[in-house]
Amino acid sequence: GITDCADLTGLSEEELEKRKSLGYEANTPVPENRCDNCQLYLPPTAERKCGGCQLFKGPVQADAYCTYWAPRIE
Ligand code: SF4
Repeated sequence: GITDCADLTGLSEEELEKRKSLGYEANTPVPENRCDNCQLYLPPTAERKCGGCQLFKGPVQADAYCTYWAPRIE
């Protein structure tokens, strides 16, 4: 569920810092800009139930956001 994908335990300090430096927020402050419509989003797969981001490791919530948000090229 969503709670599981918010769980960042097990990530290195370095990865947590990277995420923080990009301004990752678990709930987007800009409703139309969300991870799941970002070019850098990695959608969940059969092997990985949470989404991810090409810029850092660990789970990414569909309705999260960061300052590197970029529109997906359709
Ligand atoms: Fe989400 Fe930012 Fe990664 Fe885009 S770049 S998927 S907005 S964390």
